[in-house]
Amino acid sequence: MANEKDNGLREELFSAKKNGYDRISVEERVQIEEYSKGYIDFLNKARMEREAVRYAVDLAEKQGFREYVAGEALQPGSKVYFNNRGKSLVLAVIGERSLEEGCVIAGAHVDSPRLDLKQHPLYESEEMAFFRTHYYGGIKKYQWVAIPLALHGTVALKSGELVHVAIGHEPGDPKFVITDLLPHLAQDQMKKTMSEGITGEGLNVLIGSVPYDDDGSDRVRLAIMSILHDQYGIREEDFMSAELAAVPAFPVDEIGFDRSLIGGYGHDDRVCAYAELKALLDLKEVPARTCVCILADKEETGSDGVTGMQSAAFEYFMADLCKGQNVDLRHCFARSFCLSADVTAAFDPLYPDAFEKSNDARINYGMGICKFTGARGKSGTSDASAEIVAYLRRTFDRENVVWQLSEMGKVDKGGGGTIAKYMANRNIDTIDAGVPVLSMHAPYEVVSKFDCYMTYKGVLALYTDSDYRF
Ligand code: MN
Ligand code: MN
Repeated sequence: MANEKDNGLREELFSAKKNGYDRISVEERVQIEEYSKGYIDFLNKARMEREAVRYAVDLAEKQGFREYVAGEALQPGSKVYFNNRGKSLVLAVIGERSLEEGCVIAGAHVDSPRLDLKQHPLYESEEMAFFRTHYYGGIKKYQWVAIPLALHGTVALKSGELVHVAIGHEPGDPKFVITDLLPHLAQDQMKKTMSEGITGEGLNVLIGSVPYDDDGSDRVRLAIMSILHDQYGIREEDFMSAELAAVPAFPVDEIGFDRSLIGGYGHDDRVCAYAELKALLDLKEVPARTCVCILADKEETGSDGVTGMQSAAFEYFMADLCKGQNVDLRHCFARSFCLSADVTAAFDPLYPDAFEKSNDARINYGMGICKFTGARGKSGTSDASAEIVAYLRRTFDRENVVWQLSEMGKVDKGGGGTIAKYMANRNIDTIDAGVPVLSMHAPYEVVSKFDCYMTYKGVLALYTDSDYRF
């Protein structure tokens, strides 16, 4: 509020935060709704990394992308993708300029916390059948009991044939559940801490109860195997070479009377994955620099493994692109810029003690830029340079991207990691930015439509920017 005596000095010198809805036009509200529809469809269908990759490939091929063939000649405007073992994907639109000048990369991950089945999952106890699980990523275990679960994943048969499983989402599909103890008998359980009340070994999924019609042992287990054999052609030993997971079965929904929010499983980080994919697919003209979109796997367990961002698979593809232009990959990376697009924590007024209000992201304040991540003294962070933040300020303000700075809660409360440091370790200038999330890593996370759209707009602004200098 301008003060009569300050001659506008406060307005001039103080930084002012403003709700995003006070900063956009009516037309843009319509675009937010349109964008959200596409995202909700993606999130409903992509519950696992393989499903996200398949969805992205389908969408990309409809827009003229095709699988890159090693050694092929590419021209400015060529649209190619590299499918890394069906679990991570790198897409590129070749730019006007040489890769010698670097490329602009946006990297998100498509894996989310979930309950992986163990390799010997099936057992029967007291004439009920269960799957044993080993959870994947950081979860609060008590949140995963007494909610509807779906079963997703892939079984690799001994023959090499793959069987894809997705059960629990179509109308009429059965669902699965991990039971909890009734409050009447939970006196001892309720005295435990929240991290001890439900244990990892206790996360066993109820999958059936009708015994097979004979006089033998393990009749419910046999009846379940019989159903699985009929439906998927699998035997019990096929679980050994399977990647199956129990994931929340909730549909993705609009939240609130004003429908301004989206509730669903796996916003982290499919909300940013969709934003960068959509931005790449929406490029109308050949970009100045080559634009690269990464959908990574294994971020939630530390980005290790052949499909994680620490894998050389990324170099394998990028080196080929560079070779096609007689460019040394090292020079390309040194002049590239990477937006590590990952979600951040949104300030939650129900839990104010965990946050630091002036530095944490707020719902409806736009894309959240994290200069650094890490935990307790920035440990494990990549910490982007001041110059990069200035570059984003300049670019986003020019393109009317609503953005905010964000940190992950109070200094000594926690923190988190992303793929940023693995990109920065490759000698690529990198910064984290993404959508603020409420209830992050819960089976049902919440984001705002406004922030989703602004993250898309932010990535698009970077892809189309031709004048980047730090
Ligand atoms: Mn994430
Ligand atoms: Mn996460």
